[in-house]
This record gives sequence, C-alpha cells and structure tokens, in this order.
Amino acid sequence: MKALAKAKPEVGIWMQDVPVPQIEADEVLIRVNKASICGTDMHIYKWDPWAQANVPVPMVTGHEYGGEVVEVGSTVRRVKVGDRVSGEGHVVGNKSRNARSGRWHLDPETKGIGVNLPGAFAQYVRLPEFNVIPLPDDLPMEIAAILDPLGNAVHTALAFDLVGEDVLITGAGPIGVMSAAVARKAGARRIVITDVNPWRLEFATRINPDIHTVNVASESLREKMIEIGMKEGFDVGFEMSGVASAFDQMVDTMIMGGNIAMLGLPPKPFEADFGKIVLKALTIRGIYGRQMYDTWYKMLALLDNGLDVSGMITHTFSCDDYQAAFDVMLTGECGKVILDWQ
Ligand SMILES: [Zn+2]
Repeated sequence: MKALAKAKPEVGIWMQDVPVPQIEADEVLIRVNKASICGTDMHIYKWDPWAQANVPVPMVTGHEYGGEVVEVGSTVRRVKVGDRVSGEGHVVGNKSRNARSGRWHLDPETKGIGVNLPGAFAQYVRLPEFNVIPLPDDLPMEIAAILDPLGNAVHTALAFDLVGEDVLITGAGPIGVMSAAVARKAGARRIVITDVNPWRLEFATRINPDIHTVNVASESLREKMIEIGMKEGFDVGFEMSGVASAFDQMVDTMIMGGNIAMLGLPPKPFEADFGKIVLKALTIRGIYGRQMYDTWYKMLALLDNGLDVSGMITHTFSCDDYQAAFDVMLTGECGKVILDWQ
C-alpha cells in the first residue's frame, strides 16, 4: 500500500510502498478515506528536537482520519466490516493506576498512532477495537478527518463551566479557532482570540463572526477589553499558543479566581509570574488529548446539535500531492489541510 513515512532522520516526508498492516485478534483494519495534517505531523516533518526524541524512524505518520472498516480480528464484537469510523489516536495500556481506574486518557503508557505506532497517512491503518469511533451516517469523511483536533478543542473548552463567561483564547491556530466555536455553542459570553498572524485572526472571524480578535503584535488587549465593555478580567482562558508572552498576558488579564485550560505546548520551559498566579487564586489545568471517551460523545453530540466546523477545511489534496499539502501547512496560512487517500 501507499504510505507517507518519516523514512530518514532529516527534514521531509516520503511516499513509500509498504505492506498492509496485519491485525491482531483485538484490532481492526481501516481503509483510510480522508486524513488531515496536524501540527504534530509538522513537528515530525521538520524533524525538530521533540520529533527526534519521540519518533522512531522509519515511521508511517498521520493520526487524523476517517475511513471504513475492512477487516476485524477474531475477538472484535463492537465494530463490523463496512462501518464508517474514525479513531482515537492514543493507544493506552491497562496496567497503570489511571487506566485501571478508567481514566484511560491519563495512562502514562500511551502510544500515539503516527508517532510511535504506524499511522494513518496510508491506504490502511490498524487500530485496537477499543479506539474505534463509529460515525453517524450523515457525517462527511472530511469532518471525520478533523475530529481528533476538534476533540482537543472540545476537551479544552469544556474543562470549565462557560455559561455566561468571558473567554480569552491565546493562539488562533485550528484548535484555537474551533475552541471558540465550541465555547460559543457552550454558552460563553464574550470571546476574544489573540495571535500575531493577521491571516489566522481573519480566518478566526470567518469561522466565528461574533468573536473579537486582537493582533497582540500591534493592538492592545486591554483596550479591546474596555472597547467591548469588560469591567473586570476574563473568567476562563484557553492557552493554545505555547508562547510565554501569551501566557503572561493571559495571567495578567484573568479575573480573580479565574480558570485557565492549557493545551499549547511550550517548546522549552519558561518563567511565569507565579506570585500573580497565587495572589489571583487562578486555577491552571493542563489538557492532554481527548478524554476517553467522553470528549468523543460530547463532540459528536455538539456536531449533531448544529456545531459547524466545515469551514475549517481550507485545502484538499490527493495523497500523491502530499508535498504541496505540507508546503501549504508550512506557510501557516491555512485551516485544516486534507489528504484524500481514495
Ligand atoms: Zn492531531
């Protein structure tokens, strides 16, 4: 089969001819229909220090996809051949305290599809039955391919109560933009999103016409808060950038007792004003992946209830044109970029 692999420990990605995966008794084989490119795939493409430390070579990449089950193992009962599915990309163990207590998403033995297990930028991917997400009949395959990052957005946005709350989102990448849509659907009051990339801020308002944007390279967040009638600080923050100055600004503009959900991954440790965090009595919660499987239930329910993320997809390429797709990702001026494997 065709598969996009990290074949060499250097910048780039390569289309290869590899064997179709052999499934175990508790696994299924999925024929990939559409897949989308994640920031994680870009770390692997660029072969940055995180990728060098975490990704064995060679490795078939990709973990955001929709497809159809074409084979099931002998002990598989819940899923059948022909099912339209997506998949949770975190494959967990069953030995740790968290896993044994049902907090699967907090299992320290987690392995990642397309990171340290063979991925979904391929014509076929194998997955434990436990990880398979059956899709509603009317959910398009393009949307199936972006459920993984939408799940990150839902997990972050629903970490704290949002009804009537003013929300600050730092970072207008695809997950930040989707988290704004989820926050709106979940009852947030004012939503402000910050970034330094004008294209991304314009895209954020294209998807969410009723949110406010601040380009922190040239505009004042404080002035925007006054302009939109905020008298105190933000009640809830979604930190999506991993940038120290964005986190500082969030801490600075939070209300006393505010809540911060932190998904952005800083490239290296940074200093923070812990005195302010203490004296403002802020709560900061790290967000990792998606809650298994409550996030998936909530996400599919939100979509069924009118959450529309179809505008997030800005580009679709044939899998054979993968280099053009990665080049678009490298510009940063895109929403979700889809690879068509059919
Ligand atoms: Zn992803």
